[in-house]
Amino acid sequence: MSSSEYYQPELETISRSELQQLQLERARKTIATALNAPFYKEKYGKLGLSADSLRSLDDLKKFPFTTKQDLRDHYPYGLVATDRRNLVRLHSSSGTTGNPTVIFHTKNDLDCWANRVARSLYMVGLRDTDVFQNTSGYGMFTGGLGIQYGAEKLGALTVPAAAGNSLRQIKFIMDFGTTAIHAIPSYAVRLAEAFREQGIDPAHDTKLTTFIIGAEPHTEEQRRRIEELFNIKAYNCFGMSEMSGPGVAFECKEQNGLHIWEDSYIVEIIDPKTLEPVPDGEFGEMVLTTLDREGMPLVRYRTRDITRIIPGPCPCGRTHRRLDRFRGRSDDMFIVKGVNIYPMQIEKILMEFPQLGGNYLITVDTVGSNDEIFIDAELDDLFTDDYTVIQALNKEITRKLKDEILVTPRVRLVDKRTIPQSEGKAVRLVDKRKKF
Ligand code: ADP
Ligand code: ZN
Repeated sequence: MSSSEYYQPELETISRSELQQLQLERARKTIATALNAPFYKEKYGKLGLSADSLRSLDDLKKFPFTTKQDLRDHYPYGLVATDRRNLVRLHSSSGTTGNPTVIFHTKNDLDCWANRVARSLYMVGLRDTDVFQNTSGYGMFTGGLGIQYGAEKLGALTVPAAAGNSLRQIKFIMDFGTTAIHAIPSYAVRLAEAFREQGIDPAHDTKLTTFIIGAEPHTEEQRRRIEELFNIKAYNCFGMSEMSGPGVAFECKEQNGLHIWEDSYIVEIIDPKTLEPVPDGEFGEMVLTTLDREGMPLVRYRTRDITRIIPGPCPCGRTHRRLDRFRGRSDDMFIVKGVNIYPMQIEKILMEFPQLGGNYLITVDTVGSNDEIFIDAELDDLFTDDYTVIQALNKEITRKLKDEILVTPRVRLVDKRTIPQSEGKAVRLVDKRKKF
């Protein structure tokens, strides 16, 4: 790897013991800063906690968790830990119920965030010679500005196309010779369809080499599909507005887990029921502590995202640990006939069928006195309209789904473009059951 400002071996390949020392110093600073926020001041005051309570990383367990509800209850300024004059930007999550969660940033916060994104993009091979198109919505959504400033920092020529309008996206890709794209996975699939509708083969007729996909759960099968559709490499990017935005964790070229940038975050994986740490390598809820945020540090924030730490070192040489592909949020899980089901289990099976397009919708509803799972899956354009063939396919899909989720779903194979598609993150699950 050639040297560059955005390959930072002194941090990316730092020894574990040095990294832990750095984390401890930064965590102490974080606690000291957090105490300036009314929320933490009250909470830690009652418990007698201060930066001095943190003598080793193990002591972090003494500090209570911070939850999304805390952010809502103290909306909007209750967790701000600095003078208002130091704040230069706020972002909020796309939350639909109650108060949104808002995060405030200082100049330095924005700089650290852009650095993480630049480092991540460099890691997957992007350079200042790339033309980088961002199809995220700009504005409050962090995938717009967050990726934008990181790509600029790297020195790529950026195309801030923003969300939607596939014809315009395609025109930019063709006219500017776009080599790299940031897109949510559901939109990447949609964009490939739009290319084909224009008579352009996205696998051969563009200069694209790299996709950055993230912001919503997706399966390995969905990634491979996107890679084939465009003949590119696609890398998984994880982020959330509470942790600033994209670039919290990012896949390296090995495509085997996302390095979580541990100089910026302390990661814990807990059992969401007992709140105790799970053994290494097991799935649980990810809890994060920010290490370089001044405007609004968060300590032991419960992300509700389910993942695990992949044990062992990564062949790329980076020492920051790897997170497994995210299964979704704990609240994405639904229970039917006593069985716990994640939408991603269903996606995994659907994507095994090349006869299907990328779009699908799971609906859970009460029929009579039973809960039933309906799965609408769009057929690929190039597929047959022979009814018996479709029926046989339906049977095969249903059987494989039953093996995976242990409940027999009612599968409906529908024409392409039948399932409504949102401009932002895909809606994969609708629960229509009556709640008593
Ligand atoms: P909102 O909370 O309104 O969706 P955010 O943009 O903050 O707004 O969304 C962050 C969430 O998106 C994460 O907590 C996670 O559930 C999901 N997410 C982001 N990136 C990924 C990814 N690469 N894989 C799976 N889920 C992701
Ligand atoms: Zn790696």
